[in-house]
Amino acid sequence: MLVRKAIEVSGIVQGVGFRPYIYRLASERQLAGCIYNTAAGVSIEVQGAPAVVEDFLARVPAGAPPLARITSIKVREVPCNGDREFRIVTTHRGEPVQTLISPDVAVCADCLREMFDPADRRYRYPFINCTNCGPRFTIVRNIPYDRPFTSMSVFPMCPPCQAEYEDPSNRRFHAQPNACRACGPHVELWDGEGKRMDVADPIAEAISLLQVGQVVAIKGLGGFHLACDARNPEAVRILRDRKRRVEKPFAVMVPDLAAVERFCEVDDAARQLLLSLQRPIVLLRRHDGTAMADDVAPFNRYLGVFLPYTPLHYLLFSGAGFAALAMTSANLSEEPICIANDEAVERLQRLADGFLVHNRDILLRCDDSVARVSAGRPRQLRRSRGFVPVPVFVRDEVPSVLAVGGELKNTICLTKGCHAFLSQHIGDLENAESYGFFEEAIEHLQRILEIRPVAIAYDLHPNYFSTRWALAQSGLPQIGVQHHHAHIASCMAENHLEGRVIGFALDGTGYGTDGRIWGGEVLLADYCAFERAAHLAYVPMPGGEAAIREPWRMAVSYLTRHFGCDFVRETPLARDIPPKNLNVLFRMMEQGINSPLTSSCGRLFDAVAALTGVRTQVNYEAQAAIELEMAIGNSTDEGAYPFDLVAENNSWIIDTRSLFEALLQDIARAVPVGDMSRRFHNGLANVLVEVAERLRDRTSLERVCLSGGSFQNVYLFEKLCDRMGKTSFQVFAHSEVPAGDGGLSLGQAMVAAHKLQETG
Ligand SMILES: [Zn+2]
Ligand SMILES: [Zn+2]
Ligand SMILES: [Zn+2]
Repeated sequence: MLVRKAIEVSGIVQGVGFRPYIYRLASERQLAGCIYNTAAGVSIEVQGAPAVVEDFLARVPAGAPPLARITSIKVREVPCNGDREFRIVTTHRGEPVQTLISPDVAVCADCLREMFDPADRRYRYPFINCTNCGPRFTIVRNIPYDRPFTSMSVFPMCPPCQAEYEDPSNRRFHAQPNACRACGPHVELWDGEGKRMDVADPIAEAISLLQVGQVVAIKGLGGFHLACDARNPEAVRILRDRKRRVEKPFAVMVPDLAAVERFCEVDDAARQLLLSLQRPIVLLRRHDGTAMADDVAPFNRYLGVFLPYTPLHYLLFSGAGFAALAMTSANLSEEPICIANDEAVERLQRLADGFLVHNRDILLRCDDSVARVSAGRPRQLRRSRGFVPVPVFVRDEVPSVLAVGGELKNTICLTKGCHAFLSQHIGDLENAESYGFFEEAIEHLQRILEIRPVAIAYDLHPNYFSTRWALAQSGLPQIGVQHHHAHIASCMAENHLEGRVIGFALDGTGYGTDGRIWGGEVLLADYCAFERAAHLAYVPMPGGEAAIREPWRMAVSYLTRHFGCDFVRETPLARDIPPKNLNVLFRMMEQGINSPLTSSCGRLFDAVAALTGVRTQVNYEAQAAIELEMAIGNSTDEGAYPFDLVAENNSWIIDTRSLFEALLQDIARAVPVGDMSRRFHNGLANVLVEVAERLRDRTSLERVCLSGGSFQNVYLFEKLCDRMGKTSFQVFAHSEVPAGDGGLSLGQAMVAAHKLQETG
């Protein structure tokens, strides 16, 4: 007796070697039937003895190729027919195609083995790939994901490559970027002016440049990197000077896991992250006294480390003896990463001494992803290469919405059904080139994902470029979403929560519904609405934006609020400020001139960092807060500064007079900075738990969501998770999506989608 089953598999199952996998699985069991692509994934029919068919069904998800991501399998019985063998029915144009495209992932072990095998026809070929590895998202021009619609279209396959491509039993069956030295792309080395250098082995020559301390621009998967020897202090300093990147840490690429362990502490979760197909940059605690140039990550106890992920990276390390290469996105500070060869030469001329380029076009830029492990789980800080365009799977189907994100670390989000597609990292939109990339990403993602949004969600800040873009679009409803509400909704969406939660949204800047700058917010929120249940007390930001760059201004602001101008004049802080400047500041705050009020958590960190002498001016976003956290060092002090909780109307104001009194006493007593920093963090965690408890008493809510950039502070985050857990709250935080503004667009989309559903 025979049975025949029809199986619908949904998820990312196209372009990842799924059909040859099923072909092998069925053929090995002598099952007849077929497989073909559908809009949702693939359809399979198998026919054979019932026990064999059952065994086949059990094996389908278990042994799926590494890039496949199955979201559902539906099986039904169908009538048997005369099939005798198993066939792959290939896609013809006009057939429905699936919109899930897989991301770019690291070269696989099989390809690496071949690349280092002198007998292999792809020996040392830097573009080796197969269905289990290599570029996808960054070479897609249009869908379906087929070679003619990728940047590989200009490389007709040679007969041996073509044969692999057509053979269902081959690892390269329908591997769209399949190529070899005879038919595929190749590398070239260009000098600092962009002139092609006539060298026999461009990679060996690039290695020589790096070995003598030069900076080389290297074309990667999602864009160019600027690379130099991370153990050569002079080379690192040159890279910093040229990039005009003063103190923001550089990431380093190291040849293998053993090398990572020489530089940093690596636990199991971090090891998995480092070795994952996505190969993100992983922030790891560095060992003391590692042989790394100090300038790689000054004043930072963490180092951003990643392993090679393209064949070219492996070739750069093979036999070259580099313990670590500083690798940073090839751009001037905060501009988008370069992707085209001529663009690289034009924009990077003064930055690079040489260019290792190739002729496989990158169609869409995609920066490296950045992640870390905290409270035992991986946390995305920048979700980009390797992850995009895999959607965030949300609980219920939602209308299609375009959310345009915030201003800094911008991403956009498009929803469709249960999928929320977050874009790659776009960057800071105040930069004209990033803004161009923003528009390009919106257009490109709508096209390749085939999403036609029915509404646009945007941040309430009237001056955000993303907001202005959204409001300039005609024909679609526009839905404004408050910044911190979006943060909490983002956290809820990722954790599949419904209903109301207590949301802690702590960050640097977000536009409030009262026109003030919020950032230390406790909300009672669901997707559609929120109530501001508690917040940090308002203080002026003297000089507006200048107060973000100069944390000492926030210290003056807080001390003036609590103790008055005369007091401030007598503090050690005032010694370094010319009295004239100080008086200007006092007047500005008094008269409300260019001194917007803020409840920002980031600015409170700034004030404490300035007072404790950690940092009075910053060179990159959140630097003072990061260094204040780093200052904890090996302190084990269990003290905690007090905060003041003041009832106001139906909410709580978290005030800071007691905090600053205690802090000033400690400063006067010359308490070590590490202890003061720890007491500040502990105190903040305490008062947040207290607020949560009061809100639980009032509302009976027990679920707490933590979101906003301040939760990228590992000490605060872990402390708060621990304390909340001990007081029986259910704590939800981000893992897949950044807690910072990179995750904002997801929350905006979810709020807008639910508002649309609510109004019908
Ligand atoms: Zn491979
Ligand atoms: Zn070939
Ligand atoms: Zn934010």
